[in-house]
Amino acid sequence: MDKERIDEALELLWVLNEEGHQALNRFRLSSEDDEVDAIINVLKTDGFVVTSVDDIQFTDKGRSEAKALIRRLRLAERLFTDVFEMRDDTVLADACKMEHILSEELTDSVCTFLGHPQTCPHGKPIPRGECCKKYKVEVEPVVTRLSEFEVGSKGRITFIVPAKPSRLSKLNSLGIAAGSVIRLLQRNPSYVIQIDETTVAIDPEIAKEIYIKKSV
Ligand SMILES: [Zn+2]
Ligand SMILES: [Zn+2]
Repeated sequence: MDKERIDEALELLWVLNEEGHQALNRFRLSSEDDEVDAIINVLKTDGFVVTSVDDIQFTDKGRSEAKALIRRLRLAERLFTDVFEMRDDTVLADACKMEHILSEELTDSVCTFLGHPQTCPHGKPIPRGECCKKYKVEVEPVVTRLSEFEVGSKGRITFIVPAKPSRLSKLNSLGIAAGSVIRLLQRNPSYVIQIDETTVAIDPEIAKEIYIKKSV
């Protein structure tokens, strides 16, 4: 059985549980799988769910598997909307693919990078991970845009997401590239950053496209 189909079934059951449903029929009707009964059997055989006449319920194994999947899916959605500013209706389709690409380790990095967000762009809760437990409250994202950086702060450029790809080589020629250490000297009327011994002025528009990890 295709892992992706099993994942989808686990995610569906999680979402139904969130809405307070655990009826087997509800699950059958909500599933988009052509062979929903075959899927249910696989879930049972693999020890992810138990069923009674009326209900379908997670085992502990199934719940933790589904939790991890949902976490990856919703973090991927956040990543797309917050960082890549993709429009909402395109997000879900891409996030669906992403969730199968994000490894468990990468998931915690993405979560930390985003500041341990509590909800996805649709307002659904993101299951907490190990990385979130260290924080009682939501913290500032580790990586921020240059446009939100404080004057005087120093940091390393993590990545650049240019609206126009041609900008990247121009920025690179100025020494503005992933890995460069910069200090923000001023914000108005344009952003002035220091790289090594050089200072470079950057339009506010472009400052939004440069992501920086603050040095402490
Ligand atoms: Zn969502
Ligand atoms: Zn976290």
